[in-house]
Amino acid sequence: MSFTLHGIHVSSGIAIGHAHLVSHTSLEVAHYVLPKHLLAEEVARLDAALKATRDELTSLRANRPQQAAAEFEAFLDLHLMILDDEHISQAARAMVQEEQCNAEWALKSQMDALVAQFEAFDDGYLRERSTDVVQVVERVLKVLSGHPGHVPPAPQHDSDMVLVAHDVSPADLIQLKPHQFCAILTDVGGATSHTAIVARGLNTPCVVGLLHARELIKDRDMLIVDGAQGVVIVNPDKSLLAEYKLRQSEWVLERQKLKRLKTARATTLDGTDIGLQANIEMPGDVAQVKENGATGIGLFRSEFLFLNRDDLPDEEEQYLAYRTVLEGMGELPVTIRTYDLGADKQLKGVTRVASNPALGLRAIRLCLAEPQLFRTQLRALLRASVHGNLKILVPMLSGAAEINQTLYMIESVKFDLADQGIAYNPSVQIGGMIEIPAAALALNAFVKKLDFLSIGTNDLIQYTLAIDRTDEEVAHLYDPLHPAVLLLLSHVINGANKAGIPVSVCGEMAGEISYTRLLLGLGLRQFSMHPAQLLATKQRVLTTSLPEVTTFTQKILRADDPAKIRDMLDKLNAV
Ligand code: PEP
Ligand code: MG
Repeated sequence: MSFTLHGIHVSSGIAIGHAHLVSHTSLEVAHYVLPKHLLAEEVARLDAALKATRDELTSLRANRPQQAAAEFEAFLDLHLMILDDEHISQAARAMVQEEQCNAEWALKSQMDALVAQFEAFDDGYLRERSTDVVQVVERVLKVLSGHPGHVPPAPQHDSDMVLVAHDVSPADLIQLKPHQFCAILTDVGGATSHTAIVARGLNTPCVVGLLHARELIKDRDMLIVDGAQGVVIVNPDKSLLAEYKLRQSEWVLERQKLKRLKTARATTLDGTDIGLQANIEMPGDVAQVKENGATGIGLFRSEFLFLNRDDLPDEEEQYLAYRTVLEGMGELPVTIRTYDLGADKQLKGVTRVASNPALGLRAIRLCLAEPQLFRTQLRALLRASVHGNLKILVPMLSGAAEINQTLYMIESVKFDLADQGIAYNPSVQIGGMIEIPAAALALNAFVKKLDFLSIGTNDLIQYTLAIDRTDEEVAHLYDPLHPAVLLLLSHVINGANKAGIPVSVCGEMAGEISYTRLLLGLGLRQFSMHPAQLLATKQRVLTTSLPEVTTFTQKILRADDPAKIRDMLDKLNAV
């Protein structure tokens, strides 16, 4: 029987293949009582499994493939930390001895208790970490049950196999890479989960949040996965299969052709140059930026240097990281955002989980509340400024008072450096992110006081529509095409253009090609996105006539019916 499943799209592309189900039964563990004389042996069995799992994770970390997303290492560190957490290892050992139960049961019980604690958190990021706990315990259970690891045995012809799992950990995704599954489907997970981030980096079509795929799909079922739409068609009929085969070969051809655009200038049909820059998280990402021909780095999320560690990166460590990126990019601009910690990126010992994390002490608010931490970063940035074309970007500014305080702080750090005879570029540009509706509406202070603007659409949409961007239950309401969002975008882009200061978009909208023409029509000339999206966006730019899309976009701005706006956008993209 043919049927269709809808989930959350993570990674684009069309795949056609047979289902390869990964069993989730490892968590349905047996419970039995052991005689006292076997308890020491059972604890030793548990310890051996914990050690084997630790060795496996350590070896994965050491052999991280080049193409793995930079955060991958951080995920493995997190999994190693969970594995060694006393609530898992020691508590399970104690339970075996005290309750005379088998190791599997002890582990599963500890996991359930820990997951319940995580799931009680208000913070979406912390809630999602319960998935990491389950993934780690599953891995140990696999070892205990005599399987060498969590990865399912590779099927014979894996390149036409679609992996169907209740959940897959980031570590497993990397291990699966050599098998080249043609697509990945999971029942759980949101677009911001670690697994989703790694899948995007692997460039394999991936759909998450399918809810019941593992139950409804049978092993060897024929599947069509449309990653871009988040759709899975199970046992399609011949005509649908033929249609998708055609679409798939067009897609493969398209990706091949895209590689030729690497060195081409991104110029519209009427001859306007468009800047296509890249977003990065770690210095190691520079290679991918260059492979995709970016004209600079539009957003280096520097807070990733601060995550998954017990200490803080000191001035020297930060300076070296910033310098590496600047030198790697040569004369091209490198926009480093001062750390955006808080909300879903907590810093041990410094930030706390607020009752409304997205509205709490986050980004520049935290910087101004913890001036020593901020001054350290500013010193590192200014020292690195002599090694390339640095621009400093400040996140989450809401208005004049915060801009003034930030600029004052930068001046005072410059003063100290000069006093100490330390070199820096005195005219380094300072920009602000527009990601709060208040900032978009009260734009005057921004264009008067700052050198450039960058619109963070991820947050601007979240705060405009009051939709938590990490909550999958309201994900369907997160709408970049809402008239209020479009009006704010238009207001900011026009305001900056009129004032003659550069403006870019660095949120996810910048890398979605369905929005490229809309943004160009709104007057945007600078985009920053994940490196993997650059060439497709360049292609869209090359086939766009600015006068045409500008007129059309004005009509879209006057519409207020969401269905009509979508309809008009389709027409704009079909031109
Ligand atoms: C944004 O909000 O659009 C943005 C680019 O910043 P982040 O996604 O890191 O919050
Ligand atoms: Mg943001």
